[in-house]
Amino acid sequence: MSDFAATRARFDIPEGVIYLNGNSLGPLPAGAEAKIGEFLREEWRGELIRAWNSKGWFTLANTLGDRIARLIGAPAGSVVVGETLSIRVFQALAAALQLRPDRKVILSDNGNFPSDLYVAQGLIRHLGRGHELRTPDPEAVEDAISDEVAVVMLTEVDYRSARMHDMRRIAGKAHAAGALVISDLAHSGGATAVDVTRDDVDFAVGCTYKYMNAGPGAPAFIYVPPRMAGLVEPILAGWHGHATPFSFDLDYVPAPGIGRMRVGTPPIAAFKLLDAALDAWEGVSMADVRAQSIALSELFIREVEARCPALTLASPREAARRGSHVSFAFAEGYALMQALIARGVFGDFRAPDIMRFGFAPLYVGEADVLNAVDIIEDVLTTGFWRDERFSKRALVT
Ligand SMILES: *Cc1c(COP(=O)(O)O)cnc(C)c1O
Repeated sequence: MSDFAATRARFDIPEGVIYLNGNSLGPLPAGAEAKIGEFLREEWRGELIRAWNSKGWFTLANTLGDRIARLIGAPAGSVVVGETLSIRVFQALAAALQLRPDRKVILSDNGNFPSDLYVAQGLIRHLGRGHELRTPDPEAVEDAISDEVAVVMLTEVDYRSARMHDMRRIAGKAHAAGALVISDLAHSGGATAVDVTRDDVDFAVGCTYKYMNAGPGAPAFIYVPPRMAGLVEPILAGWHGHATPFSFDLDYVPAPGIGRMRVGTPPIAAFKLLDAALDAWEGVSMADVRAQSIALSELFIREVEARCPALTLASPREAARRGSHVSFAFAEGYALMQALIARGVFGDFRAPDIMRFGFAPLYVGEADVLNAVDIIEDVLTTGFWRDERFSKRALVT
């Protein structure tokens, strides 16, 4: 059984804050400061250039990838970290299109995160071979799978509603039609019991600054199953993905397996923060995380619906169809969320009217949920949120 009281102690959350926004940016892992300090003093200052070998910097992209692999049901040696999620989406999509040269359709949905769609649009323009991006409603994706489709590219958990695709069933249908599948795990990794092996997807990508708590702009990951990795011809062919980087060949030869998805020199300081963040996951079972996330979410929905009738549930009611955040719609949701943050309840807002509350069992407990609902109810009934300072829109919502 995972010990969530012990994991809670592994995070440094300011006094008075109930943090329900790990779906956007996880909180500071308590061990991060020591880890980064040690990196600066012992590794960079002390070892200088030797640290690429003596401190294992060169292989961190792989060793950290292996630590993430356990959280998403991937075998060791099938995940690397580095780059940003948008770049990982580009890599996966470019590889998939190359592997289906006779097909011209990228199938996604109109609930996908804009960056994933923008990357697809840019790649289509760059290839100039008449590819088409189709974005039906999420519920219509399965019926839109046909033998024209090169790749089905979906984000498993919708960033607004938390609606969850059944990736296993979609991958089954896609493969039967000869199409490949890319699963974006941005809102699933560290949040749900992801199992890319069971789901049989062809590529999976995700970021580590949301539920994995590795800090703003933390490196992203990409998974390619061993059966596929040797077939991928990387478009972003960089020297860290070369079979023998220190032979400095003039011609690119891909590393065997997942190593070829590496690009160039990665941000080692950011890797150290990720390493510290992953320490909090040691001994934690994703099945337990999922069960506790559902319990917290159900409690939140029940309490909000009973005590805050002005808010309308904007997430699936059925827990099995929901990720790890819960969304409520409220016309003045921006101002209400700003007021909640002023009172210590941190969530966020997505236009036009969605308030998101994330439930990360590593540091959120039942008492936090009940206290948060007390505050939401109070802010609504007192009209505290109507104060005009709460309606001024900031750059980031
Ligand atoms: C958060 C998120 C991103 C962000 O990509 P970055 O390159 O890290 O900015 C992309 N796609 C999805 C589905 C996301 O949820």
